[in-house]
Amino acid sequence: MNSKRPSSVHIREVGPRDGFQNEPELIPTADKIRLINALGRSGFKRIEVASFVRPDVIPQLSDGREVLNGIDVPDDVQLMVLVPNSKGLDNALGLRDKFHEVAIFVSASETHNLRNVNRTVSQTMADNEVMAKRIVAEDLGCSAVIATSFGCPFEGAIPLDQTLVLAEQFAAAGVTEIGFGDTTGMANPAYVSEFFTAALDRLPGVEVTAHFHNTRGQGLVNAYAALEVGCTSFESSFGELGGCPVPAGSTGNIATEDLVSMFHEMGVQTGLDLSAVIDAARAAQTVLGRKLTSHSIIAGPIDWAPAAS
Ligand code: ZN
Repeated sequence: MNSKRPSSVHIREVGPRDGFQNEPELIPTADKIRLINALGRSGFKRIEVASFVRPDVIPQLSDGREVLNGIDVPDDVQLMVLVPNSKGLDNALGLRDKFHEVAIFVSASETHNLRNVNRTVSQTMADNEVMAKRIVAEDLGCSAVIATSFGCPFEGAIPLDQTLVLAEQFAAAGVTEIGFGDTTGMANPAYVSEFFTAALDRLPGVEVTAHFHNTRGQGLVNAYAALEVGCTSFESSFGELGGCPVPAGSTGNIATEDLVSMFHEMGVQTGLDLSAVIDAARAAQTVLGRKLTSHSIIAGPIDWAPAAS
């Protein structure tokens, strides 16, 4: 086998932002804080906790300031916030000492970008380059997310080069991590293998992060495909929360606990306490008052101990 499979990976938990943003309920701030605190004690070293978007557009995340001020996680947990534009960055920097990393974003698809932020890709990238320089100057980590990297619900297939040219622009602007998002679950493992091989080759010195959605049930096999060509950085959401609500009713990000279960069974270390992650996902299920779609919530971790006779 000619696998480039790493022996350990990083997983950023994105449920408190990417997850909660796309759930229909408004989750009470105190519950968000309690769930983030639980995640922070599950072994995560990276958590996306808030965004600074307009509250009239995304009311689910209008309490970002209160969340950042209220959470209490170990000192070595890197907290990330998402900002859509310079105004959002201005607002975030008002709480500069409450987080460590800032994520900025664009869509690889022109149509998706226009519908998402009402600007062209080139307009968005011009703003992103200015923001990246400001974020780096603040001595914060700067991560970029490229949505619809593997396909667009409006435009269909997105050429590999179209996505990687944007990634190279981000890298040139000082971005040190680039997440490739399968926003509506259009990736397949063969393409993921080709894509991450090229991305890892063309982005030296940049952390290349895989962000898959389970919209069509292929999230985990896509993560496996990225792992096997050497990807060491993943994002996922406890409870399989969230994801882009297109098509309507579809599931969201891959479930962190399912991803961790797969990696651990393969002997790939994550540094996470799987039982604690499952407990956090079950707690989220209780807060939302309905069943979530993660498999490990139901099945629990694999217990290899011999059954008592
Ligand atoms: Zn996502």
